[in-house]
Amino acid sequence: MDIPSLTISSVRESLLARHFSAVELAADALSFAEVENPKTGAYLCFCPERALAAARRVDDRISRGEDPGLLAGVPIAVKDVIVTQGVTTTCGSRLLAGYLPPYDATAIARIEAAGGVILGKTNCDEFAMGSSNENSAFGPVRNPVAPDRVPGGSSGGSAAVVAQGTAVVALGSDTGGSIRQPASFCGVVGVTPTYGRVSRYGLTAFASSLDHIGPFARSVKDAATVLGVIAGRDPCDSTSADAPVPDYSAQLHGSVKGLKLGLPREYLKDLNSETGDLILRGVYALKALGCEVREISLPATDYAIACYYIIATAEASSNLARYDGVRYTSRTAHPATLADMYRGTRGEGFGAECKRRIMLGTYVLSHGYYDAYYLKAQKVRALIACDFANAFAQVDAVVAPVSPFPAFKLGEKVDDPLAMYLSDIYTITGSLAGIPCMSVPCGTTAEGLPVGMQILTKHFDEATMFRLAHAYEHTQS
Ligand code: GLN
Repeated sequence: MDIPSLTISSVRESLLARHFSAVELAADALSFAEVENPKTGAYLCFCPERALAAARRVDDRISRGEDPGLLAGVPIAVKDVIVTQGVTTTCGSRLLAGYLPPYDATAIARIEAAGGVILGKTNCDEFAMGSSNENSAFGPVRNPVAPDRVPGGSSGGSAAVVAQGTAVVALGSDTGGSIRQPASFCGVVGVTPTYGRVSRYGLTAFASSLDHIGPFARSVKDAATVLGVIAGRDPCDSTSADAPVPDYSAQLHGSVKGLKLGLPREYLKDLNSETGDLILRGVYALKALGCEVREISLPATDYAIACYYIIATAEASSNLARYDGVRYTSRTAHPATLADMYRGTRGEGFGAECKRRIMLGTYVLSHGYYDAYYLKAQKVRALIACDFANAFAQVDAVVAPVSPFPAFKLGEKVDDPLAMYLSDIYTITGSLAGIPCMSVPCGTTAEGLPVGMQILTKHFDEATMFRLAHAYEHTQS
């Protein structure tokens, strides 16, 4: 079995034609992933019992002549910030090493109900805070395309397994770019759906008003299929949207002729680089398919980094307060007082980036600074959302870079948090606006490093985003 070349539909066809069973595939995929994993460190753990049990259910359904589900037998990896009952969920943090959640996230339950086979959990920046996967307590991930480079972050492990071929698709989470940027760095498709499109029930909270679950895949079609499975209202998450979920895969093939694309002036003005050239080449390819391209303006872009790093850290400081050593985390040994216990547990457990964000977030929320920072940032967030609303009055989609540069070297930015934050400039705007956005591979630099093109559409219009990405993808092959 050639595991790295599998797609969702090739797995389904082979299962129905009885070329192999789901159990055979799961066993092969697990041993392949276990052998390949040391090259990247992308998986933190495997869950063979759970994978084989899921595969057995698929085989049973097939033998009874039932529909085995949209993701029947598909080997899937899951970022370790999404809880899985009885399977360790560490969030890349020493605090949660060995933590066994008592329930499944809704996205996990939906994946398995559709026949998906979860192989294991993937490495990530601690509590999804980072852009390089170097903030994981369990070591960095190597980019499968260039092992001396980062895979991006925070969902670096999920991007890497899909690029490496050790899973067909994967789930990640995106708060300010953590799906799109690693997808871009590893040369795979990564999708951040509309805020509320996918239930956050069971997604460990980082910045709740920005957190999303979304898929990684090697094709737009596979990403669209996974999103179709996990999307939709969930009574367990009151912020999940009660909006109909279209059949994304069925709408992929429509024409893109006449669609209006906006190129944000503010994003391209400083981008005189190979990345910029590749994005423009992508835009020309879409133009050749009949899209109309026009320049647009997103004037609040200059304030986006400051706005994001105030709102995200404020929410994070509140969300991370629960890791206090009383409930599910590890606990410091022999504290003299309750205060010592809190201090010791959090001091020993959190890594440097989490501590930095807790301090920043607590500061911007404190009395006297709340209005100057947090409230101001909320106003700027409204301006950014307004920029996009104005843009979508003129165009059907916005096309942009994902990152100012391709994958950087391991260690290159780790001691310079500000440089790391600045690299998020093109992804955080879409996150702050809550609109759907994705990265689709658009070629490689002279050094062979992948570059992703970002496509953004209006709220709940993932279908147009997928149609454009799919049409573009087919100009590449
Ligand atoms: N790189 C951004 C950050 O560090 C985004 C992270 C994310 O989307 N989870 O906050």
